[in-house]
Amino acid sequence: MNPLSFNDLQGKVCVITGGAGVLGSAMVKAIASVGTKIAIADINKEVADKVAAEIAAESGAQVIGVEANVLDKASLEKAKAEINEKLGEIDILINGAGGNSPQATTKVEQLLEENIDRLEDSFYGLEMEGFDKVFALNFKGTLLPTMVFTTDMLKNRKGVVLNVSSMNSYKPLTKIPAYSAAKASINNFTEWLAVHLAKVGIRVNAIAPGFFITNQNRFLVTDEKTGGYSPRGQKIVDNTPMGKFGEPEDLQGATLFLISDISNFITGIVIPVDGGYSAFGGV
Ligand code: NAD
Repeated sequence: MNPLSFNDLQGKVCVITGGAGVLGSAMVKAIASVGTKIAIADINKEVADKVAAEIAAESGAQVIGVEANVLDKASLEKAKAEINEKLGEIDILINGAGGNSPQATTKVEQLLEENIDRLEDSFYGLEMEGFDKVFALNFKGTLLPTMVFTTDMLKNRKGVVLNVSSMNSYKPLTKIPAYSAAKASINNFTEWLAVHLAKVGIRVNAIAPGFFITNQNRFLVTDEKTGGYSPRGQKIVDNTPMGKFGEPEDLQGATLFLISDISNFITGIVIPVDGGYSAFGGV
């Protein structure tokens, strides 16, 4: 009997949006390690090329950087043509681009009587521009690449989509209402699309990373002056039963599992990778 493996991923073509980022590049490393061909489709072509070259050299896999804006269908179509030409037809899509922004973040966690005269620090001070940007990047930025990058899968009646959700999708975190709502919509969309595409051989799942210190949240969870955790960062660690932030590499197992044929009968689920955060009631 052959031992179970990820060998089915060898030679397949995977596109990962936002793959030049902190979490995305850890996922790319895992996928390259099993011989999958990878296109890092990122708005930052320079970093995408650099990450692709490093991982290609390390793993021996074919990894390329491709310029793509997940909010612009024409740019995604151009990227797809380039990927088809350089790597072949697309088998796997990971929707990794996403994130929060300070512009869509309230200054206070709750509106209290004592600061009722500073409404600009609360929900009432949120700028629609920031709110729209975060919602678009996370939701539309998953929807559009899925429309464009799954057409080869549809033709071949086989393929996999992996979305990237967040802990915010289950229970919103204070201060970041746009990001929380957008990630909740990712879970809902994952289920919807899984059902919609189940009969044509395309599986759709998601991972929900817990807390990882990365560029987008460093300003919230660390204290610039002391270099330690901010009170919010400490609260996260205290509410994570494993007592720590995750390392980007912690996402690798769940990623390979969900994109390989090993999970052939799994569609429409969201797997938390969170050190127990979502299981803990706080007491
Ligand atoms: P990151 O900021 O390090 O990487 C995001 C990448 O997306 C960057 O390379 C950036 O250039 C790219 N990008 C941004 N806008 C784009 C656009 N319009 N088109 C194409 N590419 C674009 O972020 P990360 O921390 O690695 O997060 C990756 C994913 O994981 C995101 O969806 C994020 O919401 C999610 N997530 C992160 C955490 C965390 O703790 N960092 C937790 C849960 C979920």
